[in-house]
Amino acid sequence: MNDTRPTFSFELFPPKTEAGIARLRDTVTTLNHLRPGFFSVTYGAGGSTQSNTFATVDWIGTQGIKVAPHLSCIGSTRDELIAILDRYVAQGIDRIVALRGDLPSGAGAGSMGDLNHANELVALIRERHGSSLHIEVAAYPEMHPQAANFIRDLDNFKRKVDAGADSAITQYFYNADAYIAFVDACQRRGIDVPIVPGIMPITNFSNLVRFSDACGAEIPRWLRKRLEAFGDDVDSIARLGIDVVSALCERLLDNGAPGLHFYTMNQSAPTLAIWEMLGLPGEARTA
Ligand code: FAD
Repeated sequence: MNDTRPTFSFELFPPKTEAGIARLRDTVTTLNHLRPGFFSVTYGAGGSTQSNTFATVDWIGTQGIKVAPHLSCIGSTRDELIAILDRYVAQGIDRIVALRGDLPSGAGAGSMGDLNHANELVALIRERHGSSLHIEVAAYPEMHPQAANFIRDLDNFKRKVDAGADSAITQYFYNADAYIAFVDACQRRGIDVPIVPGIMPITNFSNLVRFSDACGAEIPRWLRKRLEAFGDDVDSIARLGIDVVSALCERLLDNGAPGLHFYTMNQSAPTLAIWEMLGLPGEARTA
């Protein structure tokens, strides 16, 4: 029998400091009570933070908690990517988030690496490890900022699925209609993998504006204006954020979203507050 219960997952970034490591561990311990399908750990393209990703993935694994490392291909050779994949498979990892990634600003064209796009990484994973890894890829309901247009972006998303991706996690958004229309466009284009919405809790207005400008996520005008009006009043920003994001999640689940992937920013409180507002049990699917 197919299990159609939604899958919930929590994204973390690899901390660099002792205090950051302690906070991440607290967050994982707290959020693990909600019995998520998995935690995922981001990976920085071509940078010094990669060893922090390995350390974070290792620690979560040693707690007996399911973890899906992100792996971005830009800036790496095929051999480097293969070495990382082999290491993950050897340690029992069975799910990976396969991305192109973005080079750090100032990196020259010579640092591009061997693969240009995420579909090539998906193909490499399938070639090397067959079906032993569940492959997640990124999807963009509001279009990837570098895409020529929405249709070309959809075609490029399909390349990843055709190369062997099992499911997708979206960039965050605050407009449920963008997701609903995107899923509809995917279905009409023959893309039939689960597309799990990425959910970004709102905690800090200026950080949110900075992230959103960089990744092409739109903050609707009404929301931007309401958040802006609170100035430095972080409690009011957090309260409105919980209301708005909970309503968004509710609408997405009501419209058939196959789960929710929370960008936790290594904090448990905002995700927990949304979880409670949604009335979700601590028994999300574990497989
Ligand atoms: P791609 O799918 O390769 O797409 C990138 C652009 O190229 C798009 O405009 C697409 O339309 C176009 N394109 C794709 N394929 C082709 C092709 N074959 N020919 C021509 N054009 C093509 N970044 C990190 O560095 N580390 C992370 O851990 C990380 N985690 C993320 C997790 C999620 C869920 C999401 C949504 C994003 C994440 N990112 C991460 C950001 C991501 O790396 C960037 O958005 C990046 O710019 C694109 O990555 P991608 O895998 O979507 O690339």
